[in-house]
Amino acid sequence: ALLYYLDGEILEEEPKVSAQDRGYNFGDGVYEVIRSYRGKLFALEDHVERLFRSASYIDLKLPYSPDEMSKLITDFYNKSGNPEAAVYLQITRGAAVRNHTYERGMKPVVFMYSKPLDDKPLSYYEGGFKAITVHDGRWDMCQAKTICLLYNILAKQKAKDAGCDEAIFVRDNGEVTECGSSNLFIIKDGILKTHPADNRILSGITRKYVIEVARKNGVHFRNEIFYKEDLFTADEVFMTGTLSEISPFVEIDGKTVGNGKPGEITLKLLHSFYEMVRSV
Ligand code: PMP
Repeated sequence: ALLYYLDGEILEEEPKVSAQDRGYNFGDGVYEVIRSYRGKLFALEDHVERLFRSASYIDLKLPYSPDEMSKLITDFYNKSGNPEAAVYLQITRGAAVRNHTYERGMKPVVFMYSKPLDDKPLSYYEGGFKAITVHDGRWDMCQAKTICLLYNILAKQKAKDAGCDEAIFVRDNGEVTECGSSNLFIIKDGILKTHPADNRILSGITRKYVIEVARKNGVHFRNEIFYKEDLFTADEVFMTGTLSEISPFVEIDGKTVGNGKPGEITLKLLHSFYEMVRSV
């Protein structure tokens, strides 16, 4: 079952927040999604570090130190008793009569819930996924993990309506950035590439671990911008994310990727990553 946390209280019922919460009125807040494997939160320190970075990008001072935050999340997760879970953590700037500008020193609202997950078998990922490309018209602070997700929502819905699993964002100049809720990698002639972690993408925690796994497996890697046409000439394409892990694409905009099955290097990375995160 789901377990909730709101401002110091743990609840089995969904908690209620103020209708004047700035998260509700303005999307004024930051969030994280942290996954557990076998009863242990994966890469918690990375998530907490990113949470503090996101908060600082939006001029939000968090009411805890990083260590206190980690402990708060761990204690809550442990109470939920879900070995495989997704912990959603959201911190909004707080509640006040609606006004675009804010007072510093408002009380941020901390909300979490822990949701049990079905641990996906490898075969789930090996089946492959489909994507469509969508124009990336997002703002220039994509490195901040904020709860303003309207652009991502609309892109992902467009993908879903087209019978696909994800939307791949392409900017005006043809540059491929990331997906609706995952990072994107391509492989061409044995070289693995992903968009540099700048202000145009969210610097994914999974992305970071997959790059490490690639290094360990001797796969050549570059942080490098690539373009829409490269998607269709790539040998392999996959996305990464806390919940998507490593998900290979076998079709993009109705065109087959590679030979229509997850490629050899992707499978090597998938197996290695899948094993690593579960060996806790
Ligand atoms: N990009 C976007 C836009 C995302 O929403 C996510 C998932 N939160 C990611 C990338 C992947 O990040 P992570 O690996 O940390 O889950």
